[in-house]
Amino acid sequence: MSDSVSGPLTADSIAGAAYIVAALLFILSLAGLSKHEKARAGVIYGIAGMVIALAATVWLTLQGAWGTGHGLTGLVLLLAAVLVGGAIGLWRARVVEMTGMPELIALLHSFVGLAAVLVGWNGHLEAPALSPDLMAVHHAEVFIGVFIGAVTFTGSIVAFLKLSARMKSSPLMLPGKNAINLGALAGFIALTVWYVNDSQLWLLIVVTILALGLGWHLVASIGGGDMPVVVSMLNSYSGWAAAAAGFLLNNDLLIITGALVGSSGAYLSYIMCKAMNRSFISVIAGGFGIAAPAAADADYGEHREITAQATADMLTNASSVVITPGYGMAVAQAQYPVAELAHQLRERGVNVRFGIHPVAGRLPGHMNVLLAEAKVPYDIVLEMDEINDDLDGTSVVLVIGANDTVNPAAAEDPSSPIAGMPVLRVWEADNVVVFKRSMAAGYAGVQNPLFFRDNSQMLFGDAKQRVEDILRAF
Ligand code: NDP
Repeated sequence: MSDSVSGPLTADSIAGAAYIVAALLFILSLAGLSKHEKARAGVIYGIAGMVIALAATVWLTLQGAWGTGHGLTGLVLLLAAVLVGGAIGLWRARVVEMTGMPELIALLHSFVGLAAVLVGWNGHLEAPALSPDLMAVHHAEVFIGVFIGAVTFTGSIVAFLKLSARMKSSPLMLPGKNAINLGALAGFIALTVWYVNDSQLWLLIVVTILALGLGWHLVASIGGGDMPVVVSMLNSYSGWAAAAAGFLLNNDLLIITGALVGSSGAYLSYIMCKAMNRSFISVIAGGFGIAAPAAADADYGEHREITAQATADMLTNASSVVITPGYGMAVAQAQYPVAELAHQLRERGVNVRFGIHPVAGRLPGHMNVLLAEAKVPYDIVLEMDEINDDLDGTSVVLVIGANDTVNPAAAEDPSSPIAGMPVLRVWEADNVVVFKRSMAAGYAGVQNPLFFRDNSQMLFGDAKQRVEDILRAF
């Protein structure tokens, strides 16, 4: 009994209690973030959980360090790491644009992967003294942690490069790519068995190189249109990498948090695959089984242009208007004039609604966040499935900076790289006005036949300026 209230055990048990509170707060945070109305509370729970977790970890580390006579060194190292990391994090979070969030998230996932690799390597170099059975478990933890961490590291770097347009978004089609992925996986299993029996350093070096290559190849093989699933999948991998590090560091909180991130990320990937009509297995296995699509340089004819004044006249005579925003609305920061346009049209008795595609923009929920920020009422913001059947019979659809998410080729051209992905069927409306700056393709790099349809007209220019022109023309 006296043991539990004295010495290092007290520090452990207090930290353990703090970890349980933090874990509960993280669960409450996830629950809150799943609903618009409770999202703010969810964020607060998350921050509170993180403060408690950090405070407990710092305290525990310092307790341990003082106990071994290295208190001052521990304190200095900890402060230096927190100051440098915190300063970089604060600076990036302050300067990042909403449109740059996905690539920042991808980069942050790569850090989690790298941390798991370093923790795994440390677990090998400073292996604890354990019984042979426990040692085998320790070795398995090291190997699996390094593998997941390294796949996450390079996979996230490729995702970062693709999302920030530093690398082409089209899929890498190496010959025998399925065999490469399967071979790497089989190699990993064989090496794990070997390492558990005989923990030689070279095996760890080989698995690290193998996993770095596999991570790179998995994500490079996935085409632009499927990147949203990859981002949430890497989120999931980073969770499992953190959980693996938690086992090695004997840290319950890291195990729980990693499992939460890993399983929620996997579930989000599954939901997104269903929304995009993609096979979950195919995407997590790096586009497994997807054949290279035929290059389609079809000639769709001439497009027509419209002015802001003519669009304003068309809208004034419309009875129903659907606005389908996309990535371009985020780039132009056009959500405020778009909200004002919706407001003015509603005042004139026009039935205005928004149609949101599940992968519009560059991160899940991107458009909902922007519209909420501009105070568009929730009840006129509808999901793709809720609005699609109403588009036939709508007077005017305004496509504001969207492209792939309104591309009829997905529904009509089986050779298109985005074939099978559900899209907003805007072409069924009486009139479509497309706001964009040029005839350039969308993120998936596929030409859009919508722009050449008889009922479509292009309103070229920056989306924000063009919407403001329409407001002036009213
Ligand atoms: P797209 O990326 O397909 O197209 C956006 C369009 O906006 C471009 O064609 C561009 O044309 C136009 N645009 C850019 N800047 C402006 C501006 N200032 N004013 C007006 N127009 C502008 O957008 P969607 O939202 O339709 O589709 C999203 C794509 O991103 C999908 O392929 C999806 O898979 C992918 N993706 C989605 C993620 C997610 O989680 N939501 C994550 C990663 C990728 P122009 O240059 O001619 O102006």
